[in-house]
Amino acid sequence: MNVEQVYRDANALLDGHFLLASGNHSRRYLQSAKVMEYPQKAAELTDALSTMIREADIEVDTVCAPALGGVLTGYELARSLNVRSIFVEKKEGGMELRRGFDIAKGEKVIICEDIITTGGSALKAAKAIEALGGEVVAFASLANRGFCKRVGGQSEAKPECALPQDIPLFSLDDFTFEMYTPEECPMCKEGSIAIKPGSKS
Ligand code: ZN
Repeated sequence: MNVEQVYRDANALLDGHFLLASGNHSRRYLQSAKVMEYPQKAAELTDALSTMIREADIEVDTVCAPALGGVLTGYELARSLNVRSIFVEKKEGGMELRRGFDIAKGEKVIICEDIITTGGSALKAAKAIEALGGEVVAFASLANRGFCKRVGGQSEAKPECALPQDIPLFSLDDFTFEMYTPEECPMCKEGSIAIKPGSKS
């Protein structure tokens, strides 16, 4: 599957001048919510992801997503794997299960995001699951921004990757694109102002 084309077709791979959550600037931005806008397209993507996970013989009981970004992807992946779907939500310094969701001791859990950048949120979700006695068997995302090493991918994990190296990451594709600090951003030097995609400002 040509995931870049799927993102382009959904107008989810944006070209411009963007302020990322990390504070860095970039010419490109992946807006995964746009890809998940059409459930049929979302199902194609998550079916491809679940095929990778099945082929690796990973045993899964539950998919858990960090809210908000991962919820739709996690739900669709759980449907495709025919397992349970839950999500964790932000609390100060971490993530927690709410809304009556629970985890059994030894329950095998995949942490699913829309995009893994450095994996910070996914790691917080994993810690919340492990604290309740669950076992994190894999991480999964539609796109991998190239900081972490995915199963079958070319790039090695960079020092910024927060995910544990002994747990596999399944992603459909690597999307590596350059990031700049505001001081060295060539677009800023040309006088353009970075916009924050996904927010109203
Ligand atoms: Zn800039």
